[in-house]
Amino acid sequence: METPWWPRVWRPYSFASAPRPDGLLTFHVRAVRAGWVSRALVHRAEPGDVLRLGAPAGTTTVDHTTHTALLCLGGGTGMAPVRALVEDVAEHGDRRRVDVFCGARSERDLYDLDAMLRLQRTYPWLAVHPVVAAGPTRGRTGEIPEAVRETGPWNERDAYLAGPPGMIRSGVRALRDAGLPQERIHHDPVEEPVLPGQG
Ligand SMILES: Cc1cc2nc3c(=O)[nH]c(=O)nc-3n(C[C@H](O)[C@H](O)[C@H](O)COP(=O)(O)OP(=O)(O)OC[C@H]3O[C@@H](n4cnc5c(N)ncnc54)[C@H](O)[C@@H]3O)c2cc1C
Repeated sequence: METPWWPRVWRPYSFASAPRPDGLLTFHVRAVRAGWVSRALVHRAEPGDVLRLGAPAGTTTVDHTTHTALLCLGGGTGMAPVRALVEDVAEHGDRRRVDVFCGARSERDLYDLDAMLRLQRTYPWLAVHPVVAAGPTRGRTGEIPEAVRETGPWNERDAYLAGPPGMIRSGVRALRDAGLPQERIHHDPVEEPVLPGQG
């Protein structure tokens, strides 16, 4: 019998699309300078190459048994899984309120903003709030956690965060300060994952 092979390096990537009936998975990968996996995926991978995926982890899935309004915080390529959540809500025909805060250094750096604004024009239940550290913006200037603290109320929401670990940690603190219980706050794991063969 053929021996299964395991890749030498693993990296976590977030789903960038809602679940589809045909099982197609979409990931948005940013090529990091000197990055082993991201550069290989962006610059070398070709149709027909085999990628081995580990088991999914985290709690970033929408509960469709409730109509609770959602609050999503996305930084950098973290906007890809946030958009996937919005698509998932839309595909289920929900009309629950969804507020999305998307953050970056400048408005030019805001990942996928035009796609999110198109969704906002399509769905009256969706509100997109860009937050940039500096420069001209159609949204707010500052950081996502302070934007969360200055708006709201959010204590009745289910919250989802995606982005750099630092943004997730400060975002979780802002949400706890806003009165959200921990069990209503969802994000991908910010620690290093346990990899096959290491458990
Ligand atoms: C839960 C989770 C979800 C993620 N989802 C995504 C996703 O959807 N899309 C995506 O593109 N990435 C995502 N990432 C990041 C991804 O897992 C890798 O860390 C990233 O692709 C870099 O891997 P690499 O092997 O290319 O770089 P490495 O070889 O690990 O690192 C090379 C160098 O780049 C630096 N570096 C590593 N990551 C970054 C970074 N993000 N920015 C700047 N410098 C960096 C390292 O410190 C090192 O000096 C996610 C991370 C987590 C924890």
